[in-house]
Amino acid sequence: MINFQYIRTTTSKAAVDSLGKDKTAKFIAGGTNLVDLMKRGVTAPEKLIDINNVPLKQIELKGNILHIGALATNAAVAEHAVVKQRFPLLSQALNAGASAQLRNMATVGGNMMQRTRCGYFYDITMPCNKREPGTGCGAKEGYNRMHAIFGTSEACIAVHPSDMCIALAALDAQVVIMNPKGERKISFVDFHRLPGATPEKDNNLQANEMIIRVEIPLNTLAENSYYLKVRDRASYAFALVSVAAGLELKSNRIIKVRLAMGGVAHKPWRLTEAEAFLTGKDATEVNFKLASEIALKGSKSFGQNNFKLKLAPNSIIEALNQAKSKA
Ligand code: SF4
Repeated sequence: MINFQYIRTTTSKAAVDSLGKDKTAKFIAGGTNLVDLMKRGVTAPEKLIDINNVPLKQIELKGNILHIGALATNAAVAEHAVVKQRFPLLSQALNAGASAQLRNMATVGGNMMQRTRCGYFYDITMPCNKREPGTGCGAKEGYNRMHAIFGTSEACIAVHPSDMCIALAALDAQVVIMNPKGERKISFVDFHRLPGATPEKDNNLQANEMIIRVEIPLNTLAENSYYLKVRDRASYAFALVSVAAGLELKSNRIIKVRLAMGGVAHKPWRLTEAEAFLTGKDATEVNFKLASEIALKGSKSFGQNNFKLKLAPNSIIEALNQAKSKA
C-alpha cells in the first residue's frame, strides 16, 4: 500500500471542494469495497476524504418522494418502516446483498460506486481493460462464469455487482449529485454505464462530483413486488442472475410493470421492451414467458456463462410469478 493523505469533512460542499484537482482523490464512508481495492493495489488514491460526518443519512418521505441520503447504511434503509411498507422491493434487494456485517457498514452511495467483482480486475498480474486500459480482457477467453450477457463490448464483459441498484433501477429512482456549481439530478438508469471502449468508467459521475441522495417516487407496485436472486450459496454471494419485478394488477390485468435484472450487464439492466409487452395484458404464465423471450433479445454468452441464457428467462418468469402471488 502506498502512503495517502487522509482528511475528514463535515459538509457536502467541503467534501466536493476537497476533491480539488486531485484526480486520484476518493471519498471513503463504509469502505467495504474501497479498502479491499487499496489493499490489493487495484487503486491507489493519494487522498482519502472521510465523509462519514457529512449529514447525509436521512431516510424520509417528502410529499410523494422518498429521500435517501447517500450515507444512509444499507441496513438502515432495508429495515426502515417506510421502505419496508412502501418499497418492499428495495428492502428485499438490500437484504439479499452481502452479509449483515457489511450491510451495517456499507452506504447507499458506496453501494452505487462499488466496482465489479471480476477476478481479473482484482488480480494486478492479469490483463484487464477496466483496471489498466489497453491491456486486454482476461475474462473473454478465461473464467467468465459470472459475466455479462447484455451490453458487452470488445473491451469488457464484466457485470455490475449491486443488488440495491437493480431495485432502484426498477423503481424509477433519481440520483442527486453535487458539484462545485450546485446540484444536478439524473435518472438512476443513466447513472451507470455500459463498458463500450472505456470500461474504466463505471458511471457518469464526474471527477468533481459527489452523490448526495437518491430519490424514489411513490408507486403502486408495493403489493406485488419481488426481488429474486439466484446465487451459488444462500447468503454472502453475488448474483448469477437477479430480477427485480413489480406489478400493479387490477383483477389479473397488468396496469403497470417494472422489471430490471442484475448479474447480466455492466449496469442495472432495465427490461423496457418486456415491460411494454406486458402492460395491459393478463398476468399469465404464457405472457410472462413471451416477455422473457423479448427480454433475452440481443443476449450473448462467452462460454462458461452460457447457462445464463436459460437461467435469465427462467428467473424473469419466476420473479413475475412470485410478484403476482404476493397479493
Ligand atoms: Fe477487466 Fe472487464 Fe475483462 Fe473483467 S471483463 S478482465 S473487468 S476488462
